[in-house]
Amino acid sequence: MFNTVRGMRDLLPIEAEKMRYIEQVSRELSKLYGYDEIITPVLESYDLLAAKTSEEIRERMYTFKDLGDRKVAMRPEFTASIARLISTKMRNEPKPMRFFSVGSLYRYDEPQYGRYREFWQSNYELFGSDRPEADAEILMLTNNLLERLELKNYLFKIGHTGILRGVLNQEGLDDEKQNSLRQLLDKKSWEEALEFALDTGVSQQCLGVLKSLLETKGEDVFNVLEGVKETVTKYEEAVCAVDNLWKIIELIKESGEKIELTVEAGFARGLEYYTGMIFEAYIPGLDIALGGGGRYDRLIEIFGGEPIPAVGVAQGIDRIALALTKQKVSTKLPKKKSIVVISVKEATMAKALELSSLLRKSGLLVEVAVMGRSISKALADANRRKIAYAVIIGPKELEQEKVVLREMKNSTQRTVLISKLTKEILKD
Ligand code: AMP
Repeated sequence: MFNTVRGMRDLLPIEAEKMRYIEQVSRELSKLYGYDEIITPVLESYDLLAAKTSEEIRERMYTFKDLGDRKVAMRPEFTASIARLISTKMRNEPKPMRFFSVGSLYRYDEPQYGRYREFWQSNYELFGSDRPEADAEILMLTNNLLERLELKNYLFKIGHTGILRGVLNQEGLDDEKQNSLRQLLDKKSWEEALEFALDTGVSQQCLGVLKSLLETKGEDVFNVLEGVKETVTKYEEAVCAVDNLWKIIELIKESGEKIELTVEAGFARGLEYYTGMIFEAYIPGLDIALGGGGRYDRLIEIFGGEPIPAVGVAQGIDRIALALTKQKVSTKLPKKKSIVVISVKEATMAKALELSSLLRKSGLLVEVAVMGRSISKALADANRRKIAYAVIIGPKELEQEKVVLREMKNSTQRTVLISKLTKEILKD
């Protein structure tokens, strides 16, 4: 007996339907916002993915040599592949460019609730604008997605990488040390993070500022930002970051968008390439992010392209599915009327196949009885599966170009002309 490989899952019909439903809503939304879908390969060169994915994710990539001795890896995120496209085939496209992608990603994470080694994301990225309205668009789009999915009480944690970076840059900390510190903060290891900062030799003033930033958060966003600005007043770059975040939130609020935001001054996301606003979405009682994103203005440059500012978000489809289950939101797509076509005799089976094709052409959901069961057993099975109609094909009726149409719900049946069958079903 074989089982799935550790961390890999089979998605059975109920789960698969939920995942595809979220995918469908995501795709519809991408069209409403003008994000064109692109499909990139699951397998990329190791060097591409290693170039700018964070150290933490890099270490957890599925990496191997293909038969041509190329070092390859399964994508742990979409952004590297899209950055590759933007810096090569699409380098001369007019800006802005808006792209949508959806698919599976692979990370050798420790499997746990909401964390899998194969998971799905829907991803929206906007290239070419460094303006706050682009950041606002990505946040509002995420807000709209969760709204369309009918999730309740969802909220956003929002911050700006420039706040910490501004402070640490002025203190002379190099990128590597800043990344290590950011990773500790991302894991919420506050004490360790402060100790690490102390070890790097930052000033007492800086340590005080860091401590205060880690404690500063709240839903009264402009008041919180006012406080953060005061805390970092001696660090010019950090002050600019606060102003930028202020502007983004102000745009969203003034547009009248209903959105729940909590500003967290010490918020850090795992991926190193963020340069500006960062955010994550949550629902109460589920302490794992449903999606997250932010601004990454230097990524394309790193891939050898011209500098192109960018902002984007990755929605975690698996986790949104968990959230929908937790909040008992129905994810069933409206079901079409379902019909089973049953042939009484083997001799009329070809006719059953022909009629089922005919009915499907009118958009009806049709199954053919394929188990060779007796009529009564086939009807009992149709009842069990809540099928709306049975079309029974017998040689006697067929001689007159007719079939029996049975309404399952009230067990009534009548003989109808084949030429009128579709109409008869659709009119009910
Ligand atoms: P990231 O690409 O790390 O910014 O993650 C974006 C979103 O993808 C997260 O907010 C999660 O919803 C989802 N996600 C990331 N890693 C996993 C995982 N191992 N399993 C399930 N979902 C994940």
